[in-house]
Amino acid sequence: MKGLKDSFSTRPIDSDAKEPEKKPEVTSTPVPTQATEKAPSVYIPKKPDQKVVFYQATARGSTAILADGSKERLPAKVTEQTTAVTSSAPQTSTPRTSAPQTVAPMRTPTRPARPMGSRMGGRPGEHRNTRRQNRISAGTTTSKPAIKRTYNKFTPDGKPKLRIIPAGGVEEIGKNMTIFEYGDDIIVVDMGLSFPDTDMLGVDFVIPDATYLVEHKANIRGAVITHGHLDHIGAIPYMIEKIGFPRMYCSDVTAGLIKLRLEEHGIVAGDRMQVVSPDGDSIQLGVFKVNFFRLNHSIPGAMGLEIETPAGNFVYATDWKFDYTPADGKPASFQYIAGLGGKGIKVLFSDSTNAEKPGHTISEAVVEQALIGIIQETKGRIIIAMFSTLINRMQQVINAAHKNGRMVLVVGRSMQQSLEMAIGIKAVTIPPNTLLSERQARNIDDSKLVILSTGAQGEDRAALSRMAKGEHKMINIKRGDTVVISASPIPGNERSVSHVMDLIYKAGGHVIYNKQLDIHTSGHGSQEDLKLMIALTKPEYFVPIHGERHKLILHAKLAQELGVDRDKCIISSDGQVIECLPDGKIQITDEYIPNGYVMVDGLGVGDVGNIVIRDRQAMAQNGMLVAIGIVERKSGKLVTSPDIISRGFIYMRESEDLVNDARSMVRKIITESYEGGKQADMSEVKERMRRELSRFLFKRTEREPMVIAVLKEV
Ligand SMILES: [Zn+2]
Ligand SMILES: [Zn+2]
Repeated sequence: MKGLKDSFSTRPIDSDAKEPEKKPEVTSTPVPTQATEKAPSVYIPKKPDQKVVFYQATARGSTAILADGSKERLPAKVTEQTTAVTSSAPQTSTPRTSAPQTVAPMRTPTRPARPMGSRMGGRPGEHRNTRRQNRISAGTTTSKPAIKRTYNKFTPDGKPKLRIIPAGGVEEIGKNMTIFEYGDDIIVVDMGLSFPDTDMLGVDFVIPDATYLVEHKANIRGAVITHGHLDHIGAIPYMIEKIGFPRMYCSDVTAGLIKLRLEEHGIVAGDRMQVVSPDGDSIQLGVFKVNFFRLNHSIPGAMGLEIETPAGNFVYATDWKFDYTPADGKPASFQYIAGLGGKGIKVLFSDSTNAEKPGHTISEAVVEQALIGIIQETKGRIIIAMFSTLINRMQQVINAAHKNGRMVLVVGRSMQQSLEMAIGIKAVTIPPNTLLSERQARNIDDSKLVILSTGAQGEDRAALSRMAKGEHKMINIKRGDTVVISASPIPGNERSVSHVMDLIYKAGGHVIYNKQLDIHTSGHGSQEDLKLMIALTKPEYFVPIHGERHKLILHAKLAQELGVDRDKCIISSDGQVIECLPDGKIQITDEYIPNGYVMVDGLGVGDVGNIVIRDRQAMAQNGMLVAIGIVERKSGKLVTSPDIISRGFIYMRESEDLVNDARSMVRKIITESYEGGKQADMSEVKERMRRELSRFLFKRTEREPMVIAVLKEV
């Protein structure tokens, strides 16, 4: 994962506003309302006039979730037989969507519940109970029979509905992926990743749940990728392993970045990647016609989409800003966008990242001027740190350096790679004799040097941090150096950024950062830009995307100020289906596609689930204690005194009494269990050891370490 975090421009903020309990767990059995009506053998709710939206498996049976959100408990599990009747779903031309799809028990984990311990202010006892319950329910998942799942894709008279499913990106900034579906045609827009919440210990990042797409693999007509940031392309290598490699349409810069990412996973894109131009290209994907137009962003080649569908024309604008004077000299397609309003736009999807920021987002030309000013006034060496995907900004630095007679050295692997790629596709042009190799740079006077570096977020292993610590193989910060941090710290990174700044000062350098000068601008439009987009496209419906819920709501309010009906502003959740009915009405539904958190940790995708995360949380909060007993099977006698090992729980040498008491407790349990030569059930003995030790340790310390009991018969 080297170089990943520093090439990423946005990162999810821990959004506690998520409402996971409302969603079907991946382990649940969603049964469409329509099917339940036609199927008398399916559970009929006690509550009058209510329908079952989906079933949720519990330890003992099932819970039916009704349309009004209430729950009714069923004594028995919803089995394959009960749901098999859902095959009465409407027939269509191909059997693929009409037949109920059989899905094996999910391998993807459900999203982890928040820890219930100190963070939530709950009593420690609650923590323990929750954990245990989760163990039980997770345990039943694996033994559950395969479940047939159908989706609510048709009107009662059998007409297909146009379905819009944000698989991610509407509850966080990250893991953007939106599915458009009509009958047998699906297109996917973006496949991004997000960085984990702070409580997902050790997880590298999170990707969207692929289950729905896997089930409908044959219907995928193509994927459209709006731009090359990791929150839009980062999940592609993992997705294509599951759903095959659909043909992908994107701009040249995006294609270059996707190829780099695929290469890291040993995947060759071949002819699956198709480059389109944001200046007027169109493609037909099943019933969908996608027209591309140019938008500005912090990376070149960002595109907006006009999607012509059977339910009307949609405009999909994620990650954009309007810049009349962008670094690459290519402003957004204003004429085209202005023309959209006249055509009649049914739905506008728009970027909510900066919905809280008043005014306009400043132009990149302002940033360039600031950079030129700094380079002019500085006598010594200049080091400029930024994201490696900020290809436009690199161009600006190179231009500014060139204008001032300086040459540029690029350090940091991800920065070098992305510049190489950008040069390769002519997204960046280098004036002659401007770029230096490391060897050349050694002989250049400090006053003639600009160094472009990674590490603007204070990342520990990135170049800037190593230079500040004096650990870089070539450049180390010294007296007279000026370091420009051309980025704003992502929420959560402020401390590491200020730590790196302190190290730079300590080494004799001097730092210029965004609070002092406009040396960074956002890639996302602010309120006035957002309003302009709404005013130009004049949509009937408005769906804010790309942001946490509070930003989506703020953005919807802006749309209402501009005359969009309150009822026609749709706030969705990850996985929640928005449907467009044949009569032109668009509404949010209670239906969710499977959308558990799929966590990637090292090489493992989805193998770190609830239980692993909970264990990590328990260990991180209270440490662990292992009790080992070895017993002779024949005599039932302990071979040695039980061993007690602990990590992160207590300092054992200073807690002799506690350890001795724990040891006696283990000895007593084992002796009792094997008394008189009886054959004890080993798992029962272990469970008793675990249970009684946990209780004992809590009583004595008010801490809840993870207790692991080991029993060996010899
Ligand atoms: Zn972006
Ligand atoms: Zn984004």
